Amino acid sequence: MFEKILIANRGEIALRIMRAAKELGIATVAVYSTADSEAMHVKLADESVCIGPPAARESYLNIPALLAACEITGADAIHPGYGFLSENARFADICAEHKIAFIGPKADHIRIMGDKIEAKRTARRLGIPCVPGSEGGITDDDEAMRVAKDIGFPVLVKAAAGGGGRGMKVARSEADLSDALSTARMEAKAAFGDDAVYLEKYLEKPRHIEIQVLGDGRGNAIHLGERDCSLQRRHQKVWEEGPSPALNASEREEIGAVVAKAMQDLQYLGVGTIEFLYEDGRFYFIEMNTRIQVDHPVPEMNTGIDLVNEQIKIAAGSPLTITQDDVRFSGHAIECRVNAEHPATFRPSPGTISYYHPPGGLGVRVDSAVYQGYTIPPNYDSLVGKLIVHGRSRTEALMRLRRTLDEFIVDGIDTTIPLFRTLVRNADIQNGDYNIHWLEKFLATGGME
Ligand code: ADP
Repeated sequence: MFEKILIANRGEIALRIMRAAKELGIATVAVYSTADSEAMHVKLADESVCIGPPAARESYLNIPALLAACEITGADAIHPGYGFLSENARFADICAEHKIAFIGPKADHIRIMGDKIEAKRTARRLGIPCVPGSEGGITDDDEAMRVAKDIGFPVLVKAAAGGGGRGMKVARSEADLSDALSTARMEAKAAFGDDAVYLEKYLEKPRHIEIQVLGDGRGNAIHLGERDCSLQRRHQKVWEEGPSPALNASEREEIGAVVAKAMQDLQYLGVGTIEFLYEDGRFYFIEMNTRIQVDHPVPEMNTGIDLVNEQIKIAAGSPLTITQDDVRFSGHAIECRVNAEHPATFRPSPGTISYYHPPGGLGVRVDSAVYQGYTIPPNYDSLVGKLIVHGRSRTEALMRLRRTLDEFIVDGIDTTIPLFRTLVRNADIQNGDYNIHWLEKFLATGGME
């Protein structure tokens, strides 16, 4: 087992990793930028090292500074958390070259899943259902037209190097296709320095459903159920819940088994998420995330399995000790991402928290790194914390969520708590009747005014 883990991250995920490490008896090192000297992860770690100025590229993304911090403190492993360097295959390789364990998947798997065309090709090979579309990248407009007619309009032009929903354009008819191709190529070139694009059938009203997986790199892999992350704004998840209100037991078992088998064949190592769009009873793979995710508490609450603890043990070379039959799903979990943003305009609201009171009680979990008197710096994401509730049924989880949202007080800054108070009382949400466009439509039609 590792002796000391350096956490190359900040905020709530740094605390989350620290908690798992401490329960495993492993010492922790926090790294921080000068904007984060008062941050909770610095206060709670056994040791801490300042690695640079506020700009992430000079601190949390600064590989030489992170390696130097390992050297100074004698850390034998790095946990990258999510974001920052977590899906950077080159960083995983560099850690290996320096004999520091990277707590994440094999570098090759990060590489494959980071290229969307390659990821889809791999998924198809592994028997995971994909959105109908082009086999690979498309360079020529005539070929694009042939593929589009074959799969049928509307089609979506997507950037191979895409991320954050950029470089995506819908073509509703033949007349739109050439414009969609050139705009997507231009956007992709500007955002990612790579203008490779591919085509997919555009789904009109899908849900976003993803499956949590865990593998030990030796062919043992299991799934931990699904999360429904359809409630999104600008492709950013806002509310995640599991199980999905849209699936029945046999659909759930079937897709879980397909995904677990695929991860066994891939010899996947660590935690990961296979993302699907789901429409009219069918699943369509869109991508795989090769890291711990923001919404990992949802399967944790439903199975009682500590994903970060498992992730650390597997990275240290232990085989997976949990079998699929050991996984017992129980009840329903909902996570709300509370951001430091205005609840209707979403204007960022960094600043000092003058009063802070998180909710508590049975089935309530708040993963956050803020405290009363803490100043949220403007340099990073605006997450104040994640509120996760668990109930024996979806109805109980919703009632508990309503109660906890009314208890949650964060004064001094704007937060999105009022948005969640509105959502939890909405009939569509209560009925589980929503798709990936629901939240944008709700906001555009004055839902928060
Ligand atoms: P990114 O990596 O940029 O986030 P994804 O492939 O994960 O790109 O897609 C982001 C979002 O775009 C999805 O969650 C979904 O809302 C939408 N989307 C992606 N592919 C399709 C599709 N074929 N049809 C309809 N919507 C899609």
